[in-house]
Amino acid sequence: AAKIQSLGFDRLPKLCLVEQTASDNSNSWAKQIRIITAHFGLSFQSQILHVNQAKEIFLQRALDHSAQSDLELLSKNRALGWLSKNKLVFHCEKYLTISLHFSLRKAYTRLRFELLESMNKYGHFHNWPYCDRTCICGAPVIEDIAHILFDCELFSALRQNYLSNILANTLHWNVNYRLSLLLTSSTVQVVRAVARFIHKATV
Ligand SMILES: [Zn+2]
Repeated sequence: AAKIQSLGFDRLPKLCLVEQTASDNSNSWAKQIRIITAHFGLSFQSQILHVNQAKEIFLQRALDHSAQSDLELLSKNRALGWLSKNKLVFHCEKYLTISLHFSLRKAYTRLRFELLESMNKYGHFHNWPYCDRTCICGAPVIEDIAHILFDCELFSALRQNYLSNILANTLHWNVNYRLSLLLTSSTVQVVRAVARFIHKATV
């Protein structure tokens, strides 16, 4: 038992021992909570005493769990079966693991998939000629996500608020690099700031 005790918590014998010890006082509230969370596939060890650590692990488990159910759904859809077959080489985009309010996540995801209600998109679905999809701000430019993020004067106050720090040294960059900076960031601050900008700009 002493040898098992010295093992790390990622080792199966240790986990079994812990489980055994815990079942001795199976009526404690801690045990009950573990049973409930384990039922949802979110079990974690009670030895993690620090609340923040437990929170972090719980959050990670929840993310793993939802990713797993997504893969399961995909594998049931015949057209997307190839995607689940390749799940071992797939990785989660970093922004998906950042905890965001639902409305912000929605805004950021819409931006990433070019689903914003821009004139370019509207025109595209209504078969307008490309040159007619100009912005309502009056500038003679197509309203696409680059215009919304970097140039449109209708959002200059919002841009100043949320994006000016991030974009400060990128004025001379190619527009695609600037878009990548905002759309594929793995930094919490950037993702959150961009999401807030888009959320406020589109409500
Ligand atoms: Zn504009």
